[in-house]
Amino acid sequence: MEQTLRGTIISGDDFEPIDGILTMEDGIIKDIEEKKIAADTIIAPCFVNAHTHIGDSVIKDPPYLPLEELVQPPHGLKHRALAEATYNDLVISMRATVQDMIRTGTCAFADFREGGLAGARALRDALGPDNRVEAKIFGRPSDGDMGYLDSCDGTGLSSTNDLDIDTIKDIAKRTKEKGKKFAIHAGERDASDISPALELEPDLLIHLTNAGDGDIRSVSEANIPVVICLRSNFITGAGLPPIRKMLDEDVLVAAGTDNVMLNSVNMFSEMEFLSKTNIYNDRQVFMLCTLNGAKVLGIDTELGSIEKGKKARLMILTKKSNNMQGIKNTLSGLVRRARPDDVIKVI
Ligand SMILES: [Zn+2]
Repeated sequence: MEQTLRGTIISGDDFEPIDGILTMEDGIIKDIEEKKIAADTIIAPCFVNAHTHIGDSVIKDPPYLPLEELVQPPHGLKHRALAEATYNDLVISMRATVQDMIRTGTCAFADFREGGLAGARALRDALGPDNRVEAKIFGRPSDGDMGYLDSCDGTGLSSTNDLDIDTIKDIAKRTKEKGKKFAIHAGERDASDISPALELEPDLLIHLTNAGDGDIRSVSEANIPVVICLRSNFITGAGLPPIRKMLDEDVLVAAGTDNVMLNSVNMFSEMEFLSKTNIYNDRQVFMLCTLNGAKVLGIDTELGSIEKGKKARLMILTKKSNNMQGIKNTLSGLVRRARPDDVIKVI
């Protein structure tokens, strides 16, 4: 069925705001027509949240503890909470988080799912049969068992400092032998795990908060995408990732909300925080939260921007709310101040 939307369309891979009419049919964008109209809505592509741990939905308000005590496997608070949670509690709490993602304009996410095969199955159960969010799952071995790999997109590990390096090498090798992606956190607490992570030739790195110039050059040369998690880094005291340097070195950078224990999955909040770092480029910030995430997840031919032939996963925002009224530059307004309560509808 054909449907039309009128408003200021954040169009194409360069996110150029144009007033006009967007036509979609059977969930696919058919046409974008530029036209002089009184546009009081913004039609934007949905967010891609490139790094989450939504299993943490069972522990949303932990005490303020050092990062290691909170998340380090196997005895960090989060892992104890996950071990104590019933399967049902885990599924129900993750389902609420997935619904929150949809409500706040996210159409795809990549999750580091702990707990081996059962952990991956719990996330699939949380997504449910009528799931509307594209989920990429990076599983993690449980007691050495890598049976999750067949039903996951890859493996996601915490840090080379958290496990015996030979064990990690074996996990990386077995992941790649299955044709799956190997992802790992690096440079979060300090830079000591960046070189060992690079030696594993990962498909994806998370954080690089404490990466030096040489590290970033190595990542760029190896063509490895990086997901930065700004709000997570703030709350754990990890610092501000060298975003400007990564972009200058042509590293593909995407954004993620990281542990649900530390942050909500609201990408508007992540985007606003990003706009307040020294990027000073609204287009680039929006790209980090949408198209670049889609590239990292390998779904950019379908999602991440408003282009003919892509899926019509859109959010429609008002320009008339007290928060948004009077904005002169639609993209800047969207990036720097839009909130979930300015969203009229998520498609
Ligand atoms: Zn993480």
